[in-house]
Amino acid sequence: AGTLYVVATPIGNLGDITQRALEVLRGVDAVCAEDTRHSRQLLAHYGIERPLVALHEHNEAELAERVVARLQAGEALALVSDAGTPLVSDPGFRLVRAARAAGVAVSPIPGACAAIAALSVAGLPSDRFCFEGFLPAKAAARRERLARLAGEPRTLVFYESAHRIEESLADFVAAFGGERRAVLARELTKLFETMLDGSLQSLLERVQHDANQRKGEFVLLVEGIGEDADARLIEGRRLYAKLAEHLP
Ligand code: SAM
Repeated sequence: AGTLYVVATPIGNLGDITQRALEVLRGVDAVCAEDTRHSRQLLAHYGIERPLVALHEHNEAELAERVVARLQAGEALALVSDAGTPLVSDPGFRLVRAARAAGVAVSPIPGACAAIAALSVAGLPSDRFCFEGFLPAKAAARRERLARLAGEPRTLVFYESAHRIEESLADFVAAFGGERRAVLARELTKLFETMLDGSLQSLLERVQHDANQRKGEFVLLVEGIGEDADARLIEGRRLYAKLAEHLP
């Protein structure tokens, strides 16, 4: 049987592709891509021309079967997404699962990932972190998700788009409190790369007052609830339990 290579591509700067990624992309029988036009251009930039197969959210389930059949017939195929690492807030999960279930080799060609790039420069605790990807688009579902995450002790990592960044930050302030420390990483590896660092309230204000800070692609990292807060919560519960003994 062949091999499915899951290949990371750049998240902005076209220099951020590995030597092995280029070798693999050059050598495979075909490349499964989220947006074939976009990926054809990307490959052309590196002087690579390979047959492309469109594999996106809407056809992945049915296409996975056909791709797995090609792998079983001995072909070497690559999976790429529009940017960064496939499967990370991008299509590919169903295909990888189907390939593995069929006993086909699946091999990673690691590289850029916006979440990890942001975490590596945020200066927030990185020993344990929690990747949350995109928040729900609907306001009610988003607020409910944030309410559930407010007590999380690990650093939280979110993806956000330009058209919702301001609204989302306001929801974060409401759910986590304006004092919580956060970092907003914008346009990583690109011309307008910016890192904003401060309380959630201060990030919201900077995004509100500067239209440029609302443009591009974002990773928002929020520090987990501190041990002090944990201690206060535990102390509060202890006091409550003591008081409760005296309640009728
Ligand atoms: N698979 C990609 C990865 O490995 O990071 C993520 C794909 S997801 C559809 C796109 C989101 O990733 C954007 O909305 C943004 O939140 C984040 N992102 C991608 N590139 C970025 C960059 N250069 N700077 C900041 N965030 C980025």
